[in-house]
Amino acid sequence: MNLKILGLDYEIVIDQQKFDKACEEANFKLENTFGLHSWFDRKIYIKPGLDRQTFQQTLMHEIIHAIGYLMGNELLAMSKQKNELFVDALANAFVLLLNDNKEFLEMFEEGEHKSNKLKDKFSPVTGIIDA
Ligand SMILES: [Zn+2]
Repeated sequence: MNLKILGLDYEIVIDQQKFDKACEEANFKLENTFGLHSWFDRKIYIKPGLDRQTFQQTLMHEIIHAIGYLMGNELLAMSKQKNELFVDALANAFVLLLNDNKEFLEMFEEGEHKSNKLKDKFSPVTGIIDA
């Protein structure tokens, strides 16, 4: 799958062999790495077999690294321990926002148009939204 991040195509790679190789090249320890952002070839490697929660958190974490790199923001881009904690917290905030608001993307897509439409069909007499 490809993701556009700040207008650039990133490939999301979920493959054990490619993940192992990327970890080795980046000098990351396999046992405590779930994801990896490779800036030079615009790839995000995710370890296969993660549970849904860990997958979401890892993917968002790596997307934030990619954004940080593209914006020249060292705090978000670089894998130093204190940065990692901040990137994790930010990733968690976005994951929760998306998971806790299932209609978020729909509303985001349609803008205020959708909520206005619902308001028009709401009857204060019956309390029924005639959708
Ligand atoms: Zn990281």
